[in-house]
Amino acid sequence: MTELSRQASRIWTELDFDAVGKQVGYLRLPLAVYDRSGDDVGYNYEPIPIVTIRNGEGPGVLLMAGNHGNEYEGQIILMNLIRTLRTEDIRGRLIILPAANAPAVRADRRISPLDDGNLNRQFPGDAEGGPTSMIAHLIESELLPRVDYAFDLHSGSLSLEYLPCAVIARPPQPDRLEGAVSLLRVFGMPIGMVVEHSTGGDGALIGACRRQGVQHLSTELGAGGTVSHSAVEMAQHGLVRLLHHVGVTTRVLTDRAPSECRLLHRVPARQYVYADTSERGLFEPLVGLGDEVAAEQIVGRIHFTTTPWREPEPVVAKTGGIVLCRRIPARTGRGDCVFVLGRDGQLP
Ligand SMILES: [Zn+2]
Repeated sequence: MTELSRQASRIWTELDFDAVGKQVGYLRLPLAVYDRSGDDVGYNYEPIPIVTIRNGEGPGVLLMAGNHGNEYEGQIILMNLIRTLRTEDIRGRLIILPAANAPAVRADRRISPLDDGNLNRQFPGDAEGGPTSMIAHLIESELLPRVDYAFDLHSGSLSLEYLPCAVIARPPQPDRLEGAVSLLRVFGMPIGMVVEHSTGGDGALIGACRRQGVQHLSTELGAGGTVSHSAVEMAQHGLVRLLHHVGVTTRVLTDRAPSECRLLHRVPARQYVYADTSERGLFEPLVGLGDEVAAEQIVGRIHFTTTPWREPEPVVAKTGGIVLCRRIPARTGRGDCVFVLGRDGQLP
């Protein structure tokens, strides 16, 4: 941990993180200490809902959603779990943050409206920093040291839709890889990936988990800004299987078996499919999520609305692979990533 992260958090709570039983309440983030919080803040606090359930000896698990505020499936799944789980269902410790970046959740935005903070770029955070940094600091310095696993439920963004997938961090100890991959198989999303780093680098929760010796698993459940029934159902059954698999729940709350999980890795970012036209236009995809594309295949076309008689420009895949993720907005220009590709196997 950094020097700063040892400082006491200014976020307060009536909950005792180590108490036995089920507690529901709030982390209370003081807004008055942040001088850009707005005109009507006064001594207000930002409520961040938290639930802790502790019962006897067993593993510790942190469940998070709302790391990005407009990714909803995970938030709904954790609210469902919060209402379902009783103290006697738990062996060990469960900590649930269904709206981790609560200001972003309240505003239906990816980032916080208070400081434009992306929580998944702010770890290890700073007790004296802005609101998003204070949240990251509390998670890394107070919550992660109490758990063995952190499961962080994301969905796509407003601009990207994913084939539903689960992602684990490659454990530093090679002999733990098998156990980590078993988390993907039990969770049972159609696609599983093992990564060294996340896009957010050390500032992401995955970096915090590595520093704190916590096994990290995250998801991408469809698209942002909306809720997919099938993604909620698939991930909710997967999560309760996973909680039982790691030993933190005493009963399995589903009888549904996991579906086959195909292990893939993402191709390097420079091999993603990008639009490369001088003029912005309408992107017409010619392939969909899960399709296999070949190198040099035309995977889309860009149509120019102000010169409709002009031939559309083709968008060509430089390399072959499976379409893991697609751009959502139709209006597309040079530099926009239209498809992310994956290949079989764990890591190159
Ligand atoms: Zn996200």
